Amino acid sequence: MTLLIKNADLDGVTADVLVDDQVQQIGGARPAAATIDARGCAVIPGLHDHHIHLYAAAAARSSIDCAGFGSINPKALSAALHAVPGPGWVRGVNYHESIAGDLDAVALDRLCASRPVRLQHSSGKLWILNTAALQALDLASVWNQPGLERDGQSKPTGRLWRMDAWLHTRLPSAAPANLSSLSKQMASFGITSVTDASYTNDRQRLTDYGRARQRRELLQHVQVMGDLSLPAGQLKILLDEDDLLPFSDLVDRIKQAHDLNRGVAFHAVSHVELLYALSALLEAGRHSDDRIEHAGVVRAQTLPMLRAAGVTVVTQPGFIADRGARFYAAADPADQPCLYPYASLLAAGVPVAASSDAPYGPLNPWLIMAAAATRVAENGEVINPTERVSPQEGLRGYLASAGQPGGPARQVRVGARADLLVLDRPLAAVFSDIAATQVRYTLIGGEIVYTAT
Ligand SMILES: [Zn+2]
Repeated sequence: MTLLIKNADLDGVTADVLVDDQVQQIGGARPAAATIDARGCAVIPGLHDHHIHLYAAAAARSSIDCAGFGSINPKALSAALHAVPGPGWVRGVNYHESIAGDLDAVALDRLCASRPVRLQHSSGKLWILNTAALQALDLASVWNQPGLERDGQSKPTGRLWRMDAWLHTRLPSAAPANLSSLSKQMASFGITSVTDASYTNDRQRLTDYGRARQRRELLQHVQVMGDLSLPAGQLKILLDEDDLLPFSDLVDRIKQAHDLNRGVAFHAVSHVELLYALSALLEAGRHSDDRIEHAGVVRAQTLPMLRAAGVTVVTQPGFIADRGARFYAAADPADQPCLYPYASLLAAGVPVAASSDAPYGPLNPWLIMAAAATRVAENGEVINPTERVSPQEGLRGYLASAGQPGGPARQVRVGARADLLVLDRPLAAVFSDIAATQVRYTLIGGEIVYTAT
């Protein structure tokens, strides 16, 4: 079916755009099966979120979001855990110790002991289980499981580090969450494609995504990184500075991926993690698809290494808006001026792409672009203002193609896939207040998948 988008503002030039599944014609008059009027508002390519965890984000929607409880509020968290209807498992996400302290099973029992509870830490790397949950999973009989923390008597403490894949095999409902409402929300924000960055992604997950697309539960195109069973996409490597893989093993893993013509994507948040990742990359040799996810701390001396390793940084300015002041207060003083950089990376010639890391960071790309431009944190403080980038740069971070994050912005051009947005204002007005920008229509492959009401 053809669709004519009339009066589109294409970067300052007003023209009609004719599409089917691709952009067919720009300018000139041709009849179409349907017409929408952009009324002089911007028409841009759809946004690509370069780092998201779709199933975790979908599951988080049916979980208690602990981030809403503010600091020192165990009562509210306890009430929310008790208020979940039904007798089964209770799942909470975005837990931070500022809410009710450093939790283990015993401490979590004080908040809720009557049913199995699991809380995911806001870092995404730790699950905390109460005693009922430990019993339900029979964790006392589990041995040789890396990540299962034990006390002095070898009893599980209730703290499970990086055990997502294992947990999924043990939990009663192994069925993945339904993606539909998340997908619709992404469409309303103008997200037409994503890169799923979960380290647990494997061939099965790829099949799940294909099926979810087929039955239209998932509207967006998905690119996937994950383990070595995948036919393409980066090998995701998690680094944890408290438990680093031996250096030679790390170099071997990188070479293994490169030999399969696949890049690697390092989860590197701290200075040590970044330094370790870059040292290993410099040792193993480069691949044009290599990436650093987060780069939460980039000290000046690591900039030349980033450049030499030829990697792209995939950053999340939304963390600044959501918890930047907390990060800043908790950071080593040497790291404070280096938190979640953007402008200094670009100035050093390092390609940068923007993303949400949802559900661990906020999803709304327009607020993320605004955070990149203002660096305003949750308490109104401005975190490292020299790292501000223009709203144009922030948008470019979302317009780079899936295969070339940090590369040039995609354009509305003849022959391109008709993943398009009609915004509620001309492009110049978008850049003067990017946080206020709304999407009027979202098209994926020429089909209208979202219409503002
Ligand atoms: Zn992530």
